[in-house]
Amino acid sequence: MKIDQLSIKDFRNIPSLEYTPCENVNIIYGQNAQGKTNLIEAIWLLTGAKSFRRVKNDREFVRFSAPKSIVEAKFSNELRQQTVTLEIDDRRTAFLNDIKTDSVSALAPEFPAVVFSPSHMSLIRSGPSERRRFIDSCLCRISPKFIKTLNDYTRALSQRNALLKDVRHSSYLLDTLDIWDQSIAQMSSLIIKMRTKLTERLNDKACRIYEGISMGNEKLSLSYISSLGVDYNADAPLSQMCSDFYNSLKYRLSDDIKYGVTTLGAHRDDIGIQLDSSDARSFASQGQSRSIVLALKLAESELLQEAFGTSPVILLDDVMSELDSKRREYLLNHIGENQVFVTCCEKAYFENLKNGSIKEMNGGNLL
Ligand code: ATP
Ligand code: MG
Repeated sequence: MKIDQLSIKDFRNIPSLEYTPCENVNIIYGQNAQGKTNLIEAIWLLTGAKSFRRVKNDREFVRFSAPKSIVEAKFSNELRQQTVTLEIDDRRTAFLNDIKTDSVSALAPEFPAVVFSPSHMSLIRSGPSERRRFIDSCLCRISPKFIKTLNDYTRALSQRNALLKDVRHSSYLLDTLDIWDQSIAQMSSLIIKMRTKLTERLNDKACRIYEGISMGNEKLSLSYISSLGVDYNADAPLSQMCSDFYNSLKYRLSDDIKYGVTTLGAHRDDIGIQLDSSDARSFASQGQSRSIVLALKLAESELLQEAFGTSPVILLDDVMSELDSKRREYLLNHIGENQVFVTCCEKAYFENLKNGSIKEMNGGNLL
């Protein structure tokens, strides 16, 4: 998929912008606070997802003192050209080919993209919840079954946790706990199975991409770490996982009652990230950490391409700092078929760009 034409009106510090990007690498450079991230964010919102920044409400996107923002893109794949429009005031309203969609999230399969922003470094630096969030958001984008299972699981978990607190005072409620144990064991097993399968697919792709970025000098590997302490592979029988879970929930019951929370399950799992058999969380350098997150994002893009049959747009905000010249060169010239938008402060980083366009962002205008 390629964006042929982008129009932005009153989005953050961008007053009015018309942009015809090229079909491969588009560099947007400029000094701090000129609107580079704002441009990446505007394109990202066309996927129907939430911003990658912390945003309290949609009004924050609207340029100060303007009534609303409009972001519109004409985009095409091998089959046809379409138009996606996002109007933002107190809320976001989406249109596909001038027809209002039921919700903004309906844009997701039509306008696939992946985004890297420095905030995504939390995938390495923060705790397991960020890595679960990454895996879950990949799965939610390609599997409606996963969205439903995850929602049902979250609800069942909060019911069980509420009951665990009540059981302390009303022991007769203990019998009712069993019904939640059964459904949590079942749903946890299914979630773990789907996540493990996805982790295996991501691992193949991210490992190959990282090998390229590091010129074959380092090896990345990903693994699913279950809170159950058992390494299941994607082919493990669901019935076996389910009974292991159920038994472990029973075994942990006294702890769970003591703490008033479920201490075991899909909500406690993690994704292990190893670099040359060391834990990347503890040992990866800044540039290595950045390269890992980048490899994960590019692997996600390949997954989306397989799911939707079209190459996602790749948005890389401020990715170049901390990467050495060889890694930067590899990145710019080996992203393949995708249309890419890269922002950076330093124009000099792009001297070796073989195929692409370079524009300067200045005060919300592209020069
Ligand atoms: P850096 O190189 O530091 O990352 P940047 O070019 O990516 O800079 P942006 O994050 O895009 O800069 O922000 C540019 C400016 O947009 C900021 O100074 C910010 O105050 C301004 N801005 C953010 N929201 C709004 C808004 N709703 N209306 C007007 N200006 C806004
Ligand atoms: Mg920025």
